[in-house]
Amino acid sequence: MNPARYLLLLNPRSPDWQNTGVSTGGNTLRWQDVAHALGAGNLSPLANTLGRARYCEDADCCQRLLAEVQIMVTGLAQQQRWRCRSDVPARLARLATHEILVDNSCSACHGHGVNRRQQICRTCNGDAREPMKAAQRYQYAGIDKRNWERRWQRRYDTIYRQLCDAEHQLLGHLAWQLHG
Ligand SMILES: [Zn+2]
Repeated sequence: MNPARYLLLLNPRSPDWQNTGVSTGGNTLRWQDVAHALGAGNLSPLANTLGRARYCEDADCCQRLLAEVQIMVTGLAQQQRWRCRSDVPARLARLATHEILVDNSCSACHGHGVNRRQQICRTCNGDAREPMKAAQRYQYAGIDKRNWERRWQRRYDTIYRQLCDAEHQLLGHLAWQLHG
């Protein structure tokens, strides 16, 4: 398995991760190694912050990720001229940040993104993660079902997709930097 995929499966809050490092097929990675790898090369700012929030055990980084996602969502709201209550973009940003940080490995491919024949997993479309259920999403965001389906689901998908893209870039970067 791709070592960066292996990282994804770990609970980022696991004490083992911080104290003893993580065994990935004979190599042991410490969070310092990951932090160093994140700083090397030209990772996009969003992917970099996501990596720090996930692997470096730092609450400030989670706050910073939330702030960056909020800026992204606010930009989208202005660009697409959303007509909504002023707190809705912030609530969508919180939902997206929560969803990308929560450990939701795809059960069909066990977080590999591909099946045993190395074909893209059909359940998660190669994302290696399972999206939250629609009901979980709109409840978390505090939006009612009707409004969610009519208006917000589609907009949220755009936000979520950007975070999945950042994650994809992050994992590719770590795989290259740590084991390239
Ligand atoms: Zn899958």
